[in-house]
Amino acid sequence: MADTFESAKKQLENALRHVKISNETITTLEKPKKIIQVSIPVRMDDGSLKIFEGYRVQYNTSRGPAKGGIRFHPEVNLDEVKSLAFWMTFKCAVANIPFGGGKGGITVNPKKLSNKELERLSRGYVTTMYEVLGPDIDIPAPDVYTNPTIMGWMSDEYNKISGKIQPAFITGKPLALGGSEGRDEATALGANYIIQEFVKEKDLNPEELTVAIQGFGNAGYNIAKFLHSDGYKIKAISDSKAGILSEESLNPEQMMNIKKEKGQLNCCSENQKKITNSELLELDVDILILAALENQLTKENAGKIKAKYIFELANGPVTNEADEILEERQIVVMPDILTNAGGVTVSYFEWTQNRTGYYWKKEEVNEKLKKIMSESYMEVSQLQKKHKTTLRTAAYILALKRISGAINAHGTIDYFTQT
Ligand code: NAD
Repeated sequence: MADTFESAKKQLENALRHVKISNETITTLEKPKKIIQVSIPVRMDDGSLKIFEGYRVQYNTSRGPAKGGIRFHPEVNLDEVKSLAFWMTFKCAVANIPFGGGKGGITVNPKKLSNKELERLSRGYVTTMYEVLGPDIDIPAPDVYTNPTIMGWMSDEYNKISGKIQPAFITGKPLALGGSEGRDEATALGANYIIQEFVKEKDLNPEELTVAIQGFGNAGYNIAKFLHSDGYKIKAISDSKAGILSEESLNPEQMMNIKKEKGQLNCCSENQKKITNSELLELDVDILILAALENQLTKENAGKIKAKYIFELANGPVTNEADEILEERQIVVMPDILTNAGGVTVSYFEWTQNRTGYYWKKEEVNEKLKKIMSESYMEVSQLQKKHKTTLRTAAYILALKRISGAINAHGTIDYFTQT
């Protein structure tokens, strides 16, 4: 969608009504610091040459090097990458990890490439972007339709060009190449910690709560697994091709096996039926998890949502108009910049381990993740109550204070106009 970035900035404007932030911070955050657009030539298996559009946006680096994933998707465009880099800036600040915000992408349908073409394309991204990436500059990671294998190729390409082994250049790598224990599940586990805090605060019983999950990839599948094992009833799941509704709780591992076998989600009992993605969003469930793409809840369907609580594991799945409708209808939306911050938090742990050369056990990673997620939840929840606002605006208030602190630490107008 063409106006995702302008819409993302409105979330910031809402927060600015509640806090006094220097004009210099506001001006700095209005535009990305750096936009890089490249054409990546790839020799295809049939011998032809194809050119792919690649993007990287470094939105803000006041708090540290830019950090953010790389998306491979046919609809990747500059507006989307800018929005994702903007959200990364605020997400890193909410989790209080020492990074700014960045994001990248290639306009491609990776499902239509062979593995060899995918490898050439992934390496090509690094070759064309080499100068603007690095462990102290901008550190990529996986996002939609990219995975540890792709991170491994990119890492190898970066090492080859630089002539040094620099695992901290990229996160989400395979364990054997310096990846972190727990990174694969981190986005969902972080979200699970947020859900646990929320359920505790609201005094709800997981075993009485029904859930629908849109998206069944890294974020969606893993959160389904965690919630299923905590006793929640998973009533529905969906991916880009199909949705399944079940009378009994779905078993995520069984559904993943079916997806792998048949190439898409499919029913496996007579208590299940196929539904569309839009039907899934409007189901009568307690919790709706959005774990696919942006702009899924809009002014068209927000009035029809029956879930009481929405958790944004995807980035930007609820538009501003939908947000307003949901707020009026007293439906709670747990914002992306808090809910899915577990992924970048364990990426930060991976970067730290790569730089020290000392690797942690999974228990240690998860314990540290839990601490950061729970503390961030508490801070956002307290600000929400204090300012009588939405959780999203509260999360922006928290992030803004931290980003503003870094911008002001370089000197404010008062400092520079002193006589
Ligand atoms: P993924 O590629 O592993 O999975 C994406 C899933 O979404 C797939 O199941 C796909 O079929 C499904 N999907 C795509 N289009 C859809 C549609 N129109 N309707 C329903 N389902 C659709 O990607 P992921 O890493 O799980 O990312 C999902 C979301 O989570 C993205 O918004 C991403 O930015 C966000 N996120 C991911 C991470 C991470 O560490 N992977 C971290 C933070 C946020």
